[in-house]
Amino acid sequence: MNYTVEKYLTKKDLKEANDAAVREKRNRALADEFVDNLDEDIKIPVWKIMYHAKNEIRLMLIINQEGDLGFLDVSILRYKTLPNLYKYDDGRIEFENRVKTDSKRPYPNGREWKESIEKKPVRKQSNFRDRVLKAYNSECCICDVKEKSLLRAAHIVAVVDGGPDTINNGLCLCVNHEIAFDRGLFRITETFNVEVISKFQLGIEVKKIKLPYDKNDYPISKYLKEKYARIV
Ligand SMILES: [Zn+2]
Repeated sequence: MNYTVEKYLTKKDLKEANDAAVREKRNRALADEFVDNLDEDIKIPVWKIMYHAKNEIRLMLIINQEGDLGFLDVSILRYKTLPNLYKYDDGRIEFENRVKTDSKRPYPNGREWKESIEKKPVRKQSNFRDRVLKAYNSECCICDVKEKSLLRAAHIVAVVDGGPDTINNGLCLCVNHEIAFDRGLFRITETFNVEVISKFQLGIEVKKIKLPYDKNDYPISKYLKEKYARIV
């Protein structure tokens, strides 16, 4: 059975994200009273996301039964750790249990991520980023984005799943395509073809990813296979 993976927020997630948006003076947040008056067990689906600013994503949320939308700016990190919502082909919707995902939450006690506490992983990450960007000549391997502040070094197999910080487990992607890749909206085959899933559009016609100059830096089939072994 095919399905797409999206995200949703519990009331607690929404409250934390909204408080953070207000505190960080982000452009879009919901009214406090609106959030406070929500049912305790509400699940708010993320309808769409837009890249908004550096390290920030604008969520378009379906905030009521009528399908009205609300906008909320969150950090990319927070977005990534929201619980999943699975939409199956037959119309079924399944919400990932929040309790299971609590361990990967980045902001314990509702506090924002502090880079100073995370010096070591941040440095390691930026080293990985430097190497991947260099291998891909600082260009998104899907589209033409070359602006460094919009480029990400994405792991094919995520670090939490045991993926190494090696160039051949990495891809240079712009922010939009990183999110799309992360959500499985397109796939990269072992022959480096790009396969778009269902209605999602990359915003560009692309058959193959742009590969690094050095063959040793090409994504390894093993990692591409492993990534998709999880999604059936
Ligand atoms: Zn791109």
